Amino acid sequence: ASEITGDSPNQDKLLRINTYLPHPARVYDAWLGGKDNYAADREAAQAGLQAFPSTVKSVQANRAFLARAVEYLVAEAGIRQFLDIGTGLPSANNTHEVAQSIAPESRIVYVDNDPIVLAHAQALLTSSNPGVTDYIDADLRDPDLILREASRTLDFTRPVAVMLIAVLHFIPDDADPYAITDTLMKAVPPGSHLVVSHTAKDIFPEEMAVFERTMNENSTEKVTLRDREQVSGFFRGLDMLEPGVVKVSQWRPRSETEASAPAVLWGGMAGKP
Ligand code: SAH
Repeated sequence: ASEITGDSPNQDKLLRINTYLPHPARVYDAWLGGKDNYAADREAAQAGLQAFPSTVKSVQANRAFLARAVEYLVAEAGIRQFLDIGTGLPSANNTHEVAQSIAPESRIVYVDNDPIVLAHAQALLTSSNPGVTDYIDADLRDPDLILREASRTLDFTRPVAVMLIAVLHFIPDDADPYAITDTLMKAVPPGSHLVVSHTAKDIFPEEMAVFERTMNENSTEKVTLRDREQVSGFFRGLDMLEPGVVKVSQWRPRSETEASAPAVLWGGMAGKP
């Protein structure tokens, strides 16, 4: 596990927590009703709500998608290793909690680039034997570093679920998000899976155009919305699972309530042949 206290190399980074500008992890936490956010984040969260009033329901639908995806991976696909990039602040039903509630031996590596997530990472590292949870402070734009550090915890000769949940929209086109997912999926063996959710450009397009502009006004990380076809592109070379790329609320919903949530994220899962 990463050192997060004392004289660690992370100390510098923790000192750089900027509470005057909204950060994606903290804005997301504000929408989820969490406590790890500042006034600037709450203002940005409020502005997002004004642009798209169902934002909170949409974010909740994304968390429910994450939980159903992990449950499927463990219970149906037999996956026991997870690389969860863009983890966010600890919330309810984190990846390791869902996975280890079904298969206690599950191994999870969390990755995020935000200092506030690093500061709270200890709360994610609560797994006990025989499972393992680790945290890597890294940027999705550096997949080679992520893979190298994750190999301390994950066995890359066995299937891995790569989880990119609500994070790829922080990677602009000029940073080539498609090359990043290719690099990650090349490093894992057949039987591995890719799970993606991504804020949509083509669901409530007018509201979402305002949302995108609002979120990008003064945030530290810019959002790039993508349409269904662009999101489907992340699964190139993989075998798409049913029901394909759909609104996250419609990915194998467990109830009518889950299915009808007004989600503005595309989501899907595919297996590596
Ligand atoms: N996956 C969680 C949290 C999504 S919020 C969920 O779906 O519930 C998006 C997270 O991605 C934030 O914690 C943010 O800090 C992180 N993030 C944004 N850009 C990133 C990057 N380039 N590299 C790593 N993490 C990033």
